[in-house]
Amino acid sequence: MLKGKTALVTGSTSGIGLGIAKALARQGANIVLNGFGDVDGPRAEVLAAGEAAGAQVAYHGADMSRVPHRDMMKYSASQFGRVDILVNNAGIQHVANVENFPVERWDSIIAINLTSALHTSRLALPAMKSANWGRIINVASVHGLVGSAQKSAYVAAKHGIVGLTKVTALENATTGVTCNAICPGWGLTPLVQKQVDAKAAEHGISNEEAKKLLLGEKEPSMQFTTPEELGELAVFFCSPAANNVRGVAWNMDGGWAQ
Ligand code: NAD
Repeated sequence: MLKGKTALVTGSTSGIGLGIAKALARQGANIVLNGFGDVDGPRAEVLAAGEAAGAQVAYHGADMSRVPHRDMMKYSASQFGRVDILVNNAGIQHVANVENFPVERWDSIIAINLTSALHTSRLALPAMKSANWGRIINVASVHGLVGSAQKSAYVAAKHGIVGLTKVTALENATTGVTCNAICPGWGLTPLVQKQVDAKAAEHGISNEEAKKLLLGEKEPSMQFTTPEELGELAVFFCSPAANNVRGVAWNMDGGWAQ
């Protein structure tokens, strides 16, 4: 379905971004990976996922807390032609009460989880509009819809990216360019495993008990949403069936926000 398209997925060396990259590669899109840590493993996984569909994979290591986005966009275009699908997924978390929230952590969460999506979107939109086809998918969170204690920067950034999604969708509503947000509940990725570890240490309980405690606080289904499930939602947003889906913030959260 996406053969010949190029998808840039920020923060795709791990977790949800990697799941989305694999799902898009399976549909034939060429993928530009981005993110920190091991690159060879994720690259091999995405290549394997897209092998049957002939998808190719490239990587750019831009730091989403800074503004080197123009270089990443130029690189993506030089590898495979313009960026047709932009997935703004890179994100970090920090947990502390408002009065103790480290200001530098606030700044980096806003920069990575919110501001980077403005920069990549503004740079991707001109080529998408001239082709009259494009998909911008912002990985927000259930925390783009509701709050949780100790997550001020994250909740502010995720509410912000839901707002950015709506405005981007509206400004392009008469074109073939759509913008939508995905709002996962708990997913068992490295970002959340840190919170499971903190709960296990705080209560002196096992990893399995800490997972149940975490789910039980918020997620009625008592199940983690998987990167594979979120990848399939991204594929839907890229499909012709979603041509007129514009500005939604679609939660996949086991019944958390309703
Ligand atoms: P993760 O820690 O597994 O992956 C985060 C990715 O972002 C990694 O590839 C990492 O290298 C990359 N990254 C971090 N800082 C970066 C930077 N400065 N520049 C470039 N890349 C950077 O986390 P995840 O759980 O897969 O989270 C992905 C997205 O999903 C985030 O936006 C997160 O807020 C969102 N999300 C996660 C959950 C969850 O439960 N896991 C729930 C809701 C939303």
